[in-house]
Amino acid sequence: MTGELPEFLERVAPTARMFPASWRDAAIRVAFDRQAGGVQCRGCAGLFRRPAELRRLHGDHIVPFSRGGLTTWANLQLLCARCNLRKHAKHQP
Ligand SMILES: [Zn+2]
Repeated sequence: MTGELPEFLERVAPTARMFPASWRDAAIRVAFDRQAGGVQCRGCAGLFRRPAELRRLHGDHIVPFSRGGLTTWANLQLLCARCNLRKHAKHQP
């Protein structure tokens, strides 16, 4: 995500394994495109509009955690469930 971590969010250790749900929810609010009426997946560029779809977006490490990527706002992107699964499959040893 671009910009600073929003003020109201809890701080987490950059070495934490997962993004907190609060960060994911905030990322959805920040990424929400009012004109398009939804949030775009950073993987497939699909647009997700319905609340049920938005709830299924994943907070993903741009640089994978397994490759030294940190749990920071800058390293967070939103992926749809399908892209997230695909990415994880690709990085399996
Ligand atoms: Zn996707």
